[in-house]
Amino acid sequence: MSRSIEGEDRTQSVLFPERLDDYIGEDNPVRVIDAFVDELDLAKLGFDGVHAEDTGRPGYHPATLLRLYIYGYMNRVQSSRRLERETQRNLELIWLTGRLSPDFKTIADFRRDNGPALRRTCAQFVSLCRSLKLFAEAVVAIDGSKFKAVNNTDRNFSERKLQARIEQLENSVGRYLEELDRADREPSRVTEARIAHVKHKIRSIRSRMKELASLEEQIRNSPDGQISLTDPDARCIATSGKGTAMVGYNVQTAVDTKHHLIVAHEVTNLGHDRTMLSPMAQQARETIGSKKLKALADRGYFSGPQILDCEEHGITPLVPKTMTSNNRARGLFDKRDFHYLPQKDEFRCPSGEKAIFRCETIESGLTIRKYWSSACPRCSLKPRCTTGQYRRINRWENEHVVDAMQKRLDRMPAVTRMRRQTVEHPFATLKSWMGATHFLTRTLPNVRTEMSLHVLAYNLTRAVSIFGTKGLMGMIRA
Ligand code: SF4
Repeated sequence: MSRSIEGEDRTQSVLFPERLDDYIGEDNPVRVIDAFVDELDLAKLGFDGVHAEDTGRPGYHPATLLRLYIYGYMNRVQSSRRLERETQRNLELIWLTGRLSPDFKTIADFRRDNGPALRRTCAQFVSLCRSLKLFAEAVVAIDGSKFKAVNNTDRNFSERKLQARIEQLENSVGRYLEELDRADREPSRVTEARIAHVKHKIRSIRSRMKELASLEEQIRNSPDGQISLTDPDARCIATSGKGTAMVGYNVQTAVDTKHHLIVAHEVTNLGHDRTMLSPMAQQARETIGSKKLKALADRGYFSGPQILDCEEHGITPLVPKTMTSNNRARGLFDKRDFHYLPQKDEFRCPSGEKAIFRCETIESGLTIRKYWSSACPRCSLKPRCTTGQYRRINRWENEHVVDAMQKRLDRMPAVTRMRRQTVEHPFATLKSWMGATHFLTRTLPNVRTEMSLHVLAYNLTRAVSIFGTKGLMGMIRA
């Protein structure tokens, strides 16, 4: 007789069969999904089909499909086909849907047709967290990360990429034509089958070249000089590795530093973060419902007008300054060597001379004030300062806002570590849940919906780990 632990006999009858509910433990997170959806006003959120039509075939209630999606995104099952399969074999889903098993088309259509309602549902959970006083400290870390789109890199073209691809195909045609010439000269060395294959290749490459040539016009008309054939909204975006890029979207998040919940998120197809500091901070402040907010971000967000906009909206930004000048690398003094004296509105230069205000110019829409010293032509430090006649020092008219922010940062050296510890965890978690392919849907509105579902799943999972299943269910129902 085996000494292993034996399972039950599958054919054994039981006198009192277990209820479906007995298979789902009291602390199973699937109960939180059920309670959360139960408490939502689906009609107010804008879901289709809340009130069934009097005629026609009855459809699935949006609550069933919403439960299904939330479960799927919390358990790494995001595809509609896989969700359909899971509804037939996964005990938790059988419990959650009440043994309903919608087909994959119904599941996919629900996500496509209820984008704004799904995004509002995600915001509703954040509001719940706010009412639970989880954002009391009103400090968020803002960061962006690149997520892959459905669009393959080979199906994204810029003018340069298109020319390179056409050149590559021309070279291939050239090689095949040479092979045909050789076959003409020495027919005995090349088989008929090979000649037929080469001719077929030449025909298909030429037709591909015609297709590519027809894209030129589209690329020229595109505002940012690139097109994506599978997902028209996806863009080729540079990533942090040197010389690397991916076709995808830029996902922005504002994460609360205490509980690491995602307070606000946005999906863009911009390749940079420079214009996102104030919009993300304002969105986070509105969600938190606080008058004031501290927003931490990395150098990629540094932008004078964005910092000013934050200050004007009651947000305290903490963003390290970017040094764009190459002067230090060239052995010259850079801006840090010149001290601004606000009372006198002048700079003290490295030789101790004063550089006074001379004129104003408009550069990239900003008013820049220019300062220089009359002592430059006879200064002994001039070789380390400028190659021109005078060393000119530029100062943005609202630079005092940036200076004040720098002083705050100097007093809070732990801010950088706090920012990194806060934002990197949600992005790493979301990407591991998404798997290698990241987004499954196409176009910006659909991708935004998909991201909202991911954020809702992430926040629900975080809240369960903070309060426990029973605790959170009690708060949802309170
Ligand atoms: S070159 Fe002009 S700005 Fe530079 S150290 Fe000399 S006086 Fe000052």
